Amino acid sequence: MRRPVIAGNWKMYKTQEETRAFFAAFKPLVPATPDCDVIVAPPFTSLAAAAAAAHGSSITIAAQNAYWEREGAFTGEISVRMIADAGGKAVLIGHSERRQFFGETDETVLKKTKAALAAGLTPIVCIGEKLAEYQAGKTQHVCETQFLAGSNSLTPEEFSRILLAYEPVWAIGTGHTATPEIATAVHKFLRSCAAARFSESLAASLRILYGGSVKPDNIKGLMAQEELDGVLVGGASLDPKSFASIVKDWPR
Ligand code: PEP
Repeated sequence: MRRPVIAGNWKMYKTQEETRAFFAAFKPLVPATPDCDVIVAPPFTSLAAAAAAAHGSSITIAAQNAYWEREGAFTGEISVRMIADAGGKAVLIGHSERRQFFGETDETVLKKTKAALAAGLTPIVCIGEKLAEYQAGKTQHVCETQFLAGSNSLTPEEFSRILLAYEPVWAIGTGHTATPEIATAVHKFLRSCAAARFSESLAASLRILYGGSVKPDNIKGLMAQEELDGVLVGGASLDPKSFASIVKDWPR
């Protein structure tokens, strides 16, 4: 019922030339009409190059961050309108690296989400607990708080256009993937939060991605779980072959 999503977050990797080389290698490796949505999030400077390289394919280009104001004296920031102008159709919001290193809060996540929605971009809203919170048994509390604050004041129509990514911080870039069972339990919990906050039907159609050290050799176990609607892939999305194998290994 929910169309799967495989999204790649390139973080601060790849120049424009490297971006073009990636797509030249990646496009022939994936089906022209894959059974899932494929999203690639390059750095801002490679957005237009990625959009041009992906042109004519079903690959969606996303930014990794955005600012909520339309324009103005905000040195170093990029607006959702600029992202759309560069060919972006989606945007990661609230990635844990932005929360940890760049002062992102649930309040700024909400502002960015609303700005992205208003510009017609798909927000991919990231939430997840830190290692100490996981060890203290606070996963649900943290995820619920981030989910509620980050979706606070969204209308049901707006909420229906977001993608949610559950990314336990202890699993990102560490090689320690959450087990399919751990991820499933959190996804189920988040779906119940969405049902309580919005409605059963919106919760049932919400696509929730898992992120955290997803690799070609663990994708099958994760995707066998019905609750997981896709994955957000960091390191393994940088290599065309490994990202293509994650796209192709989607169990059908
Ligand atoms: C990410 O950047 O969102 C991520 C999940 O990274 P990695 O796959 O490298 O853990």
